[in-house]
Amino acid sequence: MTDRANPNILITGTPGTGKTSTAAQVAALSGLKHICVGDWVKEHSLHSGWDEEHQCYLLDEDKVCDALEDLASEGGCIVDHHGCDFFPERWFDLVVVLQTDNTLLYDRLAARGYGPSKVQENVQCEIMMVVLEEARDSYREEVVQALRSDTAEQLEANVSQLVAWIKQFQAQHA
Ligand code: ADP
Ligand code: MN
Repeated sequence: MTDRANPNILITGTPGTGKTSTAAQVAALSGLKHICVGDWVKEHSLHSGWDEEHQCYLLDEDKVCDALEDLASEGGCIVDHHGCDFFPERWFDLVVVLQTDNTLLYDRLAARGYGPSKVQENVQCEIMMVVLEEARDSYREEVVQALRSDTAEQLEANVSQLVAWIKQFQAQHA
């Protein structure tokens, strides 16, 4: 399906599920490049203003995709973002959706300093499995993988599993 020597992986999920922690460790162990879309948007001004209601930047999806196109075409990117429906489907060899228990997620988001309505909104998003459904609507079934991210042990296991998956991909595409 792809002629990339290195895979592109999308790590998605509700805010607080552990995307950045997972992506950073997988990148460090595999040598792939970690692209945190939120940071990219800020660094490269790929937003169309501040969303007061949701307390976040409104990202300009077309600009983000244009800016990432060259890197994604090369392969070897771990893209970290809470949404997944606006990237080109062809970019990703694997789409990981992290999931976290509602109570644990509530505590993580409160600890992050999110206000009550932002915590509620995100916990509700997790309960409704919004991101998993978005991933299943946007990518082929065999590419989408849901992983639990409740505990430090699960984080570690997920990282090991992803690093092993990358090595296998590289061996098959060498
Ligand atoms: P995201 O990028 O999805 O918003 P982060 O990686 O920033 O999530 O993690 C949010 C918080 O939860 C951080 O304090 C992180 O240390 C913690 N965390 C992430 N994954 C786990 C896990 N599997 N078990 C316990 N704590 C976790
Ligand atoms: Mn993050």
